[in-house]
Amino acid sequence: MMNDLDQLAIENFREYLRIPSVHPDVNYDDCVTFVKNQAASLGLPVQVYHCFPNKPIVIVTWIGREPDLPSILLNGHMDVVPVFKEEWTHDPFGAVMDENGDIYARGAQDMKSTSIQYLEAIRRLKMDNVTLRRTIHVSFVPDEEILGAEGMGAFVKSKEFEELNVGFALDEGAPNSVDAYRLFYGERNRWAIRIHCPGQTGHGSLLLDNTAGEKVRKILDKFYDLREQEKKKLDDDPSLNTGDVSTINLTVIEGGVQNNVIPSEFVISIDCRFAITVDLEEFEKTLNEWCEEAGEGVWIEFEAKIPRIPPTKLDETNPFWMAFKKTFDDMNAELQPQIFSAASDVRYLRAVNIPGLGFAPMNHTPVLAHAHDEYLNKDIFLRGIGIYYKVIPAVANVEEIPTQQ
Ligand SMILES: [Zn+2]
Repeated sequence: MMNDLDQLAIENFREYLRIPSVHPDVNYDDCVTFVKNQAASLGLPVQVYHCFPNKPIVIVTWIGREPDLPSILLNGHMDVVPVFKEEWTHDPFGAVMDENGDIYARGAQDMKSTSIQYLEAIRRLKMDNVTLRRTIHVSFVPDEEILGAEGMGAFVKSKEFEELNVGFALDEGAPNSVDAYRLFYGERNRWAIRIHCPGQTGHGSLLLDNTAGEKVRKILDKFYDLREQEKKKLDDDPSLNTGDVSTINLTVIEGGVQNNVIPSEFVISIDCRFAITVDLEEFEKTLNEWCEEAGEGVWIEFEAKIPRIPPTKLDETNPFWMAFKKTFDDMNAELQPQIFSAASDVRYLRAVNIPGLGFAPMNHTPVLAHAHDEYLNKDIFLRGIGIYYKVIPAVANVEEIPTQQ
């Protein structure tokens, strides 16, 4: 038998899932209305900020007993990635719950579940007359799935964000198929590189020198040798995750006009995500050498070159981590600290020296973020509310002001 609170939590979750806040060109209006209604039902104030038109940042606030202390930010993004509807068993925006209690929808894992779990945990804490030392801000941000430049990326630089006085943040995590929960304390550095390889143009029947194709080949040899090494590291050591190694992939090749004409240029795009142990300055030197060796005129264009963002510390210098960890120890639940292999909005917070952890209370769940038939089981969802019921007070009642991370 489900109690009324559980019923309400599931209804709210499914209602949020039914809002098609899907890329491209997301209309966030219904999400904003939804969050405002949720805030009203919790008796909490809500603010809507805009760094860019039609890119709302919605903040629900629960004032703490000591509101001058740095606050806790519980972040979630409102947007979801596109769907291939014909590949789904159920309507991806129908939030159908099957007889197993699996709730199907785009965003069920990534990450509307987490946002609702924050709110439902707060609902229960308030009903139990719990008060917290620090203020809690629950943020609903746009555009995470398109890198967040006009969402969290812009918001962290605003005066309004500064006024929130955030001292610690929780953000999205990922499911785990086993009993332990994943915990992300850092991310790899992404570089999106375009390498221009110009060369001698001419008839395809000749053996000209200095052609674009020869340069592409030399560059790709270097990148793919490095890729092999990283793949071997990962294959040889089962304790490693993708986040522990660097990944390199050729993603776009541009150039050429027709089969019998040697082009004047090829441009290759390479997606590089560097393990946190890689010396980026050193790598850039190596990359420049590769380009020089490849031949005349080869040059690099950076589409993205994310500088090193230090991971959040998981030691006694971070009292929020200590409080978070203790909650799991007390529950006898295991955490698996990892470097996230992709990227999420929490990196913008870490980049402005706010410690942040990526976490989602989804164990015994297959990873279906961005996949067909994304779902979350209702029991896992409800258990997650219970986890935040303990985690939120733990981090919000931390006494010490953390030292610089
Ligand atoms: Zn996400």
